[in-house]
Amino acid sequence: CGIVGYIGQQDTKDILLSGLEKLEYRGYDSAGIAVRNTEGVHVSKVKGRIATLREAVNENVHATMGIGHTRWATHGAPSRENAHPHQSSTERFTIVHNGVIENYMDIRNQYLQDVELQSETDTEIIVQLIEVLYNELNDVAAAFRKAIELLTGSYAIALIDSEDSKTIYVAKNKSPLLVGLGDGFNMVASDSMAALHVTDQFLELMDKETVILRREEVEIIDPDGQQVTREPFTAEIDA
Ligand code: GLU
Repeated sequence: CGIVGYIGQQDTKDILLSGLEKLEYRGYDSAGIAVRNTEGVHVSKVKGRIATLREAVNENVHATMGIGHTRWATHGAPSRENAHPHQSSTERFTIVHNGVIENYMDIRNQYLQDVELQSETDTEIIVQLIEVLYNELNDVAAAFRKAIELLTGSYAIALIDSEDSKTIYVAKNKSPLLVGLGDGFNMVASDSMAALHVTDQFLELMDKETVILRREEVEIIDPDGQQVTREPFTAEIDA
């Protein structure tokens, strides 16, 4: 399973699909991408191979930001409905997630009594929770961070907001995730392999950190809400 995200100037679907192909070795049962442009967020997802996903993606949709996922099902059978990305009820928020949310039942009972769920995954709970918290807090970054604080378990997460062309929200705990730094773009990926075709500069992320990823800016925030400075490293290509 794996995650890839991109924000920049290039056509995103190709970068995401190539990235996901590089993550195929990690194993998966389904795959999907979401790209955002001025018309909105376009989700394509399939049970099965990246090659099948490629056929499902609309060639005519051009976007310069997006997120992608290969799924190894833990909660809910492999199916198109359970494949990622998942969206909140209003479709404002779109998420990909690797890992397992241990307290997803508690979150569902405490915060999501009135929400009609679309899938059987633990992942959908996260994106629905973010929407519920956003309706209370009126601040996406605050809602994202609050939701992350409430989760227990393992996660590598990337989230986009249909109302925001500038930001990918990222979080990590006990699942691998790196930021890839480019000239005019930035990426997030489970493994440097997924981004080595476009950059060799990466930032390591620590557990429980969140990241505000923008085209020209990467803000890493520790669990106490403090901004972190971190030096990039150069990934070696061992082909
Ligand atoms: N637990 C999530 C699911 O079953 C994510 C699995 C994964 O890591 O791909 O959908």
